[in-house]
Amino acid sequence: MIEAAASDAPLPGDLRAHLGDCGACRAAFEEEQALFASIDGGLRVTANAEVPASLLPRVRARLDETEAGPNRPWVTNWLVLASAAVLVGAFFSARAVWRTHVARNPVVTAVKPNVISPEKHEPTVAPPVEQNFGSQRQVAVVSRPSVYKTAIRTESKPEVLVPKDQEVLLTEYAEQWRAHKHPLLLAQGLDATILTPLQVAPIQIAELDVKLLAEEKSQ
Ligand SMILES: [Zn+2]
Repeated sequence: MIEAAASDAPLPGDLRAHLGDCGACRAAFEEEQALFASIDGGLRVTANAEVPASLLPRVRARLDETEAGPNRPWVTNWLVLASAAVLVGAFFSARAVWRTHVARNPVVTAVKPNVISPEKHEPTVAPPVEQNFGSQRQVAVVSRPSVYKTAIRTESKPEVLVPKDQEVLLTEYAEQWRAHKHPLLLAQGLDATILTPLQVAPIQIAELDVKLLAEEKSQ
């Protein structure tokens, strides 16, 4: 009966006879017919919707785009290459950051040459025969090669590996040294005349009380 209601074909004779007798079946049949009719109408409206005038040019434009498609793989390849390059760059930069982090765990502190005690500095000062510094150096070379070595060493900034928490202390120490121009925590700067030589306290030694042994007593 539903199939009969769905189709526009004429009903078979027996069904039509039954629908004429049975009111309930007739009502159900009409309901089914109404349902199919509404579905049909909806479909018809959807399928025959008003096509906007701009649809055809748009479709043509899209078709032209896809026909010009051979450029597309190039674009995607370029994008893939660019993203890969970005990834590689990010990887290397991350490694560099990691390396610097590792290297900084023992902190490399560039200590100024002033940290080296001034006593070592003095012999490097060559007699001021000429104002040119290079010639001074050469004089130093001629006179004392060992002094020249120390001069070179003081010229380059020595690097000291210290733990990170000691870096602050070391830099502070270097700053103090630079400011005072004399070694701290060392007794060299002290005036020796102030120090009185240590006095040896007289030791009270009790005289030995020699006691005779018991055997000698008995004799
Ligand atoms: Zn019936």
